Amino acid sequence: MTARDVIAQALALSEAATDGPWVASLNDDDSDYAVWADDAGSDIILAEREADALLAAAARTLLPAFAKALGDVLDMHSEIETFEADPANGTWLYDENGEKRPLPSICRHCTPDDTLLEVEECNWDDGMETVRYPCPTRAAITAALSEVTP
Ligand SMILES: [Zn+2]
Repeated sequence: MTARDVIAQALALSEAATDGPWVASLNDDDSDYAVWADDAGSDIILAEREADALLAAAARTLLPAFAKALGDVLDMHSEIETFEADPANGTWLYDENGEKRPLPSICRHCTPDDTLLEVEECNWDDGMETVRYPCPTRAAITAALSEVTP
């Protein structure tokens, strides 16, 4: 499951659940902790431990916020394909099959803006500062989300 799959599933689960916010409180008979919402009609979850009820209630609000934030960060740290350029002519270099010669991809967010501009104009070389894709930020998010299944 990719990081995008995990994020999409978290958002889908959040959309399908009873609207938030959810609140956790001790039941009237002191037997269990209930998680409830104004629109639920009845308790959503019963838990023996207060900490479990508090987590469930908080997750209703936090999960979609975290998922959206991680998706936004992944969007920012997106891939830019790069190719060997001929800065003297402002063109890409092509191989014998007429294909551009690929170089390692770079991160759109982490690579300096002046380098990105030069890449767009086919006017860059390997000596310019770049951050390879996936950058450490994207790699950290994808590694963490590769280990979970919502
Ligand atoms: Zn990055």
